Amino acid sequence: MKKVSIIVPCYNEQEALPIFFEETNRILSSLDYENEIIFINDGSRDETLEILKNLACENLNVRFISFSRNFGKEAAMYAGFCNATGDYVTVMDADMQDPPSLLPQMIEILETGEFDSVATRRETRVGEPPIRSWFAKRFYKLINKISDADVVDGARDFRLMKREMVEAMVEMGEYNRFSKGIFGWIGFRTYWLPYKNVERVAGETKWNFWKLFKYAVDGIINFSQVPLDISSWLGMVMTFFSFVFLIFIIVRKLCFGDPVDGWASTVCIIVFIGGLQLFCLGVMGKYVAKTYMECKKRPHYIIADSNITNVKKVN
Ligand code: UDP
Ligand code: MG
Repeated sequence: MKKVSIIVPCYNEQEALPIFFEETNRILSSLDYENEIIFINDGSRDETLEILKNLACENLNVRFISFSRNFGKEAAMYAGFCNATGDYVTVMDADMQDPPSLLPQMIEILETGEFDSVATRRETRVGEPPIRSWFAKRFYKLINKISDADVVDGARDFRLMKREMVEAMVEMGEYNRFSKGIFGWIGFRTYWLPYKNVERVAGETKWNFWKLFKYAVDGIINFSQVPLDISSWLGMVMTFFSFVFLIFIIVRKLCFGDPVDGWASTVCIIVFIGGLQLFCLGVMGKYVAKTYMECKKRPHYIIADSNITNVKKVN
């Protein structure tokens, strides 16, 4: 019998977890598949771990991995991929924003053999602050233009994948992870399943605008070198213009004997160029910092507790 693995990253999800488990377990048991639900406790500070331990005691299909601190959802998903044993594997949020009711349909689509993964996509951004939607749309346009990661607007991490694709995800062992980009980069045949946005059942979102902005910048840096190209082109264009300006000033001085006036404009130009240089240095710094973190080869996560025997600790 084939097996379905569900990976659930949890960070302070004590309210949502019981609701999520009941509903997901109900749907999984109605299917003709073996199943396992792997909960990753990502350093929660509430009762999440206790709830998970209780669930694991009462249900044989529940596994849990508890991190030593909060490592982020990307690390939690990676731990899940490394430890999932199913033929079909998916990530689901604990807050019911990834409707478990879609699972049977997703499995059916994979069973046809025409696709390697079924990915879900939010149809609308209803309920989201307009400014966030605006930035999100610009981000998706930009990243698709300047990188080779194929990121779909509204794509969720809720995506049922065949074993081969999961192995590819595990093999992509980079420290700076941007899964939405990695999914697209590794390829495979994907079926897109749109669904209506669902509000979180309980608890609070862990993302604010600033965190999302940083995540977007990370996504671009991880999958594109265009910012570096822009910096060097800017440098070249500015150098060219400064030469033209220099010649203009020399000619003016020789022909008309004009002293160079305009102290204020000179200061403006110096400040502008100084700012631009710092900006470009910052862009380069981002890439250097990422390289630095990759070189260190630190583990993606550290496990403090788990009920999985031979749990894969470090990649
Ligand atoms: N999450 C996590 N670690 C974090 C932040 C979030 O494991 O540092 C989990 C969280 O518990 C939830 C999922 O990732 O199951 C999505 O988080 P959230 O619902 O806050 O994000 P949103 O749906 O608002 O984008
Ligand atoms: Mg959510």
